[in-house]
Amino acid sequence: MQRKVLILGSTGSIGTSTLKVLAYQQANNLQAYNHSISGLFANSSVDKLVEQVKEFKPKYCGLFDQSYESVFTEKLKATLSEQEFTNTCIICGSENINKLIASNYFDVVVGAIVGFAGLETSLTALNSGKTLLLANKESLVVGGHLIKQALLNNPKAKLIPVDSEHNAIFQCLPKEIQDNICACDLEQVGVSKLILTASGGPFLHLDLKDFTQISPEQALKHPNWAMGAKITIDSSTLMNKGLEFIEACVLFNCDPDKIKTIIHPQSIVHSGVEYLDKSILVQMGPTDMKVPIAYAINYPERNVSSVESLNLFTLQGLTFFEVDFERYPNFQLAIEAYKLGFTYTCILNAANEVTVAAFLNKQIKYLDIYKFNKLTLEKMLAMNFEQAYFDFAKIKEIDAQARIVCQNLIETLS
Ligand code: NAD
Ligand code: MG
Repeated sequence: MQRKVLILGSTGSIGTSTLKVLAYQQANNLQAYNHSISGLFANSSVDKLVEQVKEFKPKYCGLFDQSYESVFTEKLKATLSEQEFTNTCIICGSENINKLIASNYFDVVVGAIVGFAGLETSLTALNSGKTLLLANKESLVVGGHLIKQALLNNPKAKLIPVDSEHNAIFQCLPKEIQDNICACDLEQVGVSKLILTASGGPFLHLDLKDFTQISPEQALKHPNWAMGAKITIDSSTLMNKGLEFIEACVLFNCDPDKIKTIIHPQSIVHSGVEYLDKSILVQMGPTDMKVPIAYAINYPERNVSSVESLNLFTLQGLTFFEVDFERYPNFQLAIEAYKLGFTYTCILNAANEVTVAAFLNKQIKYLDIYKFNKLTLEKMLAMNFEQAYFDFAKIKEIDAQARIVCQNLIETLS
């Protein structure tokens, strides 16, 4: 069976890993499904996208930021043969790309955009009955209720988690849960707990008094994973685990008290499930996103990922610790926001996107990430939003408002 794959965020870390997995499976003729790389989209990275289009020759390609359309078109024309250029359709701008996602052309959409920007395309993919391989955790954090609704309204739509922890948990659950993601009943299949692991990032053992001095360069050095800049900073503050905690609540339809988060510095156990009889199933493997990507893209079959086996003999032991909330206050903040409702997870996510960008631009200090995340949440809590069911337009409005509030706080207080 041929499946046409559309990659959103193809130039990023998850996007390029997805292309590596697909290229490897094609080169080795080892495709459970016959995948064709049919669409590659990014935000504004013109040169990288041109390179990818030259290599993979998708039918469709383009950039969300329409202002790059003409330079992209020119560079593509100069790079491809005349015939190749004629065969390629360039689609730019969010509205046009969403129309394309909704068309019948594609079967599988890979959601590898970073941040809030990924929500709209995730919803479009599900609302048009696609199989969505979702790495963009922010979609679930800011609009979990909308994703759930889209899945309920569109029985053909499927969601398979790519985030390594959620992919691990998914692998440890029975098929009836996998088939009913976001609306599943964990108790019915005897699950008593989800075990969410966290590496602890680069500052797991750093003296708390030295946190004031942390530079972007230090925070960008993750001990185990090579990832995009935003998620790498989030991993160091454990905001990433906070977002993943919410992601797990949404995907597995479970209460926060059913999730146990554990620091596991080696990142070998990628997460798991405890059943009523106290059996614990976990998924272990190399620290490489190509493994969960290969799983998601071939699900329910298995296929090669291009990654080497994990050599168990080289492991110097696996350790597990409680999370220290004093070290990682952002983690606690995310759980509190989730308990308040999606309006507040959206506000926190927006604030965090602003603070992380400001930290990377050296506009604020490392500890200010938490400070301004918290202040933004508090300031907007005081606005007393009614707890209504907010649609996409309203969520977008709240996201925009939270960004302004956070930016203003940064400008006045730092
Ligand atoms: P990245 O920064 O490396 O790449 C982001 C991609 O999104 C790029 O292709 C970029 O062009 C595109 N993009 C950025 N802003 C956009 C916008 N406004 N509209 C449309 N496209 C836009 O990020 P990444 O590390 O690949 O992460 C992507 C997503 O996957 C994130 O949500 C992240 O949390 C999640 N994730 C990543 C990893 C990892 O190992 N990198 C692991 C688990 C989950
Ligand atoms: Mg993860």
